[in-house]
Amino acid sequence: MIEKVEKLDMEKVIENFERLTKDAEKVQRETLKRILEENASAEYLQNLGLNGRTDPESFKACVPLVIYKDLEPYINRMVGGDVSPILTGKPITGISLSSGTSQGKQKFIPWNDELFETTVQIYQTSFAFRNRDFPIQNGKALGFIYSSKSSQTKGGVTAATATANVFKNPGYKHVMEALKSPSVSPDEVIFSPDFHQTLYCHLLCGLLFREEVQIVSSTFAYSIVYAFRAFEQVFEELVNDIKQGVLSNRVTHQSIRTAMSKLLKPNPELANLIHKKCTGLSNWYGLIPELFPNVKYIQGIMTGSMEAYLKKLRHYAGDVPLLTSEYGSSEGWIASNVNPKVAPEFATYAILPQIAYFEFIPLTQLDGNEVELKPVGLTDVKIGEEYEIVLTNPAGLYRYRLGDAVKVMGFYNSTPEIKFLRRNNLLLTINIDKNTENDLQLSVETASELLAKEKMEVIDYTSYIDLSKEPGRYVIFWEISGEANDKLLSECCTCLDKSFVDLGYISSRKSKGIGALELRVVRKGTFKIILEHYVRLGASVSQFKTPRCIGPANKEVMQILFANVVKNYFSFAYK
Ligand code: AMP
Repeated sequence: MIEKVEKLDMEKVIENFERLTKDAEKVQRETLKRILEENASAEYLQNLGLNGRTDPESFKACVPLVIYKDLEPYINRMVGGDVSPILTGKPITGISLSSGTSQGKQKFIPWNDELFETTVQIYQTSFAFRNRDFPIQNGKALGFIYSSKSSQTKGGVTAATATANVFKNPGYKHVMEALKSPSVSPDEVIFSPDFHQTLYCHLLCGLLFREEVQIVSSTFAYSIVYAFRAFEQVFEELVNDIKQGVLSNRVTHQSIRTAMSKLLKPNPELANLIHKKCTGLSNWYGLIPELFPNVKYIQGIMTGSMEAYLKKLRHYAGDVPLLTSEYGSSEGWIASNVNPKVAPEFATYAILPQIAYFEFIPLTQLDGNEVELKPVGLTDVKIGEEYEIVLTNPAGLYRYRLGDAVKVMGFYNSTPEIKFLRRNNLLLTINIDKNTENDLQLSVETASELLAKEKMEVIDYTSYIDLSKEPGRYVIFWEISGEANDKLLSECCTCLDKSFVDLGYISSRKSKGIGALELRVVRKGTFKIILEHYVRLGASVSQFKTPRCIGPANKEVMQILFANVVKNYFSFAYK
């Protein structure tokens, strides 16, 4: 596989995608057959009485739709070191730890070489289409990638985040070289156990290779914004390191120091140039192209909850295009962005029919009796309809409900092009109100326009349902830049409240079934503490998504937020 990748011909990748998507139904049948044959000896499948049948009809008749909780007992045995065929025919090669930011609890997802192979396929497809519109010439990528630490489970299985499982695969480097995106940073930086030190060195490597950087990337756009916010704080120190040719003593890991000492030489000219460029900017606007004159685009997942960071990212990017990359999860990859010129807000993703077997539950079925769920196949979805994705992957997940809601926007040949809508679990609800993370995002976006008028912004946000007093209320936590006065924040609070347009919410607010919305402003750096908290638990900065609603399952995060509130306001809407 690696040799093939080295000679990768982008047009061939596109041709292959054309071929696979022209008969997506057939490819889906073959994919299911392959998965079921490879795992025919798995106890889970054996118990369901498939008896060697691999067609979609028998599969759907015998195998139930599941959520993580249903598979947990099987996965726990695998985590515990039981290598008998439980969910997969061959023993898994590792476990991917989900960040636990969406449901408050980390999940253990089986990982194997086939999942790495699907990662290669999705990266190649997205890159081939990107490269057609935005060609790269032997450049380097400043990739904000962090390989979180891996651990051994009690049963001796290696557990790491999905991104870390990808980065540490021996084939990963070759793949990125073939995709003309080798990292500017040495492995010692990527694999350091301390993400602050990794981030500092990524930035330093980027500056040292500034002329060669053609891509600035990360898995999720959050990490790019986080990195350049950090740059604002440390740029004088970075400049000093370049001037002296000596790494700041904030980096303590010897392996990183040794690797970086090979790259650093005193270079006062470069140091002065960077200093001049940074100090010449107005409020850091256009920082990225100023630092990296040959950058062609900025790339990462930029849809869904990442849209909250686009404004800031555009500020740093100036006129450099933002390209959203792929759609996937620790449980498996789903789709590539094959129209990279489209702005992230309007982006769709085309499903790769060979990487998993997909089904779609119409969201209309989720309102009522869930026993009767009837998912449809990949090629049976309808344009304009909304669905929850169900996937069957090559690493032991069968008819697994992912919990993501998507909308079908069109077809690429016969495979659907989907728009990510949201995580499907309801976020804010007290009685008859129903607000999703998307509704919260829109409300925050609207209210933050009031701050923008005063040249301030919302750095990050989350929410909480306060039921400690009657009636319950929505509480929204904001970390903001600058110092807003009470009048402005009070207006923001009322605007947040009014911007929830769900009729259940509005009527409950009017009838006082829901109390006045509360805005709590937290100390600067609070969301960084939350990130650090998750990283300590084993989450990766590469995959981090700020949890948008904090519940009892996130006790520690709640404590962090509560301890850092500096001001609070109540809405005057619906008085
Ligand atoms: P993880 O738990 O870190 O594997 O994150 C996977 C989740 O991230 C998915 O289930 C989605 O909710 C979200 N996600 C991944 N890719 C995208 C995308 N392109 N657009 C929006 N959300 C995404």
